[in-house]
Amino acid sequence: MSALWTSAELRTATGGSLAAELSVSGVSIDSRSVAAGDLFVALRDARDGHDFVAGALARGAVTALVDHVPAGLPADAPLLRVAETLAGLRALGTAARARCAAKVVGVTGSVGKTTTKEMLRALLSTAGATHAAVASYNNHWGVPLTLARMPRDSAFAIIEIGMNHPGEIAPLSALAQPHVAVITSIGAAHLGHMGSLEAIAREKSAILSGLLPGGSAVLPAESEFLPLLRAAAGAARVVTFGAGGDARAIAVRADAEGSDVTAEILGTRLDFRLGTPGLHMAGNAIAALAVVAALGLDVAQAAGALRDFRALQGRGDRRRIATGDGGSATLLDEAYNGQPPSMRAALALLKLLPARRRVAVLGQMGELGDFAAAEHAALAPHIEVAADLVFACGPLMRHALDALPAARIGAWAATSAELAPLVAAALRDGDTVLVKGSLATGMKTVVQALTESA
Ligand code: ATP
Ligand code: MG
Repeated sequence: MSALWTSAELRTATGGSLAAELSVSGVSIDSRSVAAGDLFVALRDARDGHDFVAGALARGAVTALVDHVPAGLPADAPLLRVAETLAGLRALGTAARARCAAKVVGVTGSVGKTTTKEMLRALLSTAGATHAAVASYNNHWGVPLTLARMPRDSAFAIIEIGMNHPGEIAPLSALAQPHVAVITSIGAAHLGHMGSLEAIAREKSAILSGLLPGGSAVLPAESEFLPLLRAAAGAARVVTFGAGGDARAIAVRADAEGSDVTAEILGTRLDFRLGTPGLHMAGNAIAALAVVAALGLDVAQAAGALRDFRALQGRGDRRRIATGDGGSATLLDEAYNGQPPSMRAALALLKLLPARRRVAVLGQMGELGDFAAAEHAALAPHIEVAADLVFACGPLMRHALDALPAARIGAWAATSAELAPLVAAALRDGDTVLVKGSLATGMKTVVQALTESA
């Protein structure tokens, strides 16, 4: 394997000092998952990464990016010393981007970033070596880390760019310098921090500020903020996706395992099979195909890769679980996160799936600030259409339950841990059960309890 970084390149990129001559084959920020040959970057987050340098070196890291020699390490340890480690990682990301001829796609949006990124990975891999993060690495350390890990001979790279607070996206897009930037959706996610949907639209549009000259903006045709997004695209080519857009579905035949889609993508008509169900997933596929077309690639050839696409862990993957009556149920695991747009999408998917009885297990949605009560109450009609029985946890979910007929309500509990046994006891053979909620609500606890009772 050719070196990801040589010590000479590490010095030049970061301006740091490194006494040893070496090369690294990977970059890690977590000492628990360090692989042999890695550069370990000592970031300060919840913990100070400098405390884990010795452990990382013991696990096979060949060097570590630090701003001081951590206590207990020999003075001649092979350390790359910089003034500040996050800035050092950013410098590495900048250098990785500058040396690589890859076509870069930036992905932002309120929901669907990681899913769209993974669809793009499948699509673009049909045309060349494609680099993308293993997870949802989309923040101030995730974006530079993903770039720093980019092999120099990548043909394509997909960089997810996220935000919780205003001002986060523009500098990350400047780092990624995308040829194509896609905004998957503008919706009420993290609305509490942002104040309004328009503020969210403005912040997402900041990804367009990093577009390279001659680049393309791939924008949601159905968003009420399309004019704002278009204006932010400036001189960039604009490609829209969704109903009425340049890339759109003409017919979606949705079934429990996926969708057969007839689409028109920038004038090319094509039929493809998407191997994961849900109209929102078909929508993400159309956005991803719009990106493929914006890159000038053959969409019909790439689209075949969507046949084997599967929902990601905690974002719509399904498995069989045992029920107390000796039968089995289908678990729809959406426990990774829950904000209003994805709650509605998941409930619509629940309705689509075959079941003797549909059960929704919902944890309250966080980060909605002053909008929290109204956003929870607004879920009620979606729950009523999709679920025969609902279990909920967290005080805010009471706003949803209050608007539902009593017969639909299985139970409410303060926490997911208290809710889990109540759900497990209620499940019956033939049920399909959706589990979803904000990360902080810990709906994984429910998933684990239901899986373990199998
Ligand atoms: P994060 O901000 O947490 O990184 P993300 O934007 O990367 O999220 P995903 O991880 O792809 O989004 O999906 C998050 C949730 O939203 C999942 O429950 C997923 O099923 C749902 N989802 C994905 N695409 C859409 C969409 N187009 N519309 C609504 N919900 C969606
Ligand atoms: Mg993500």
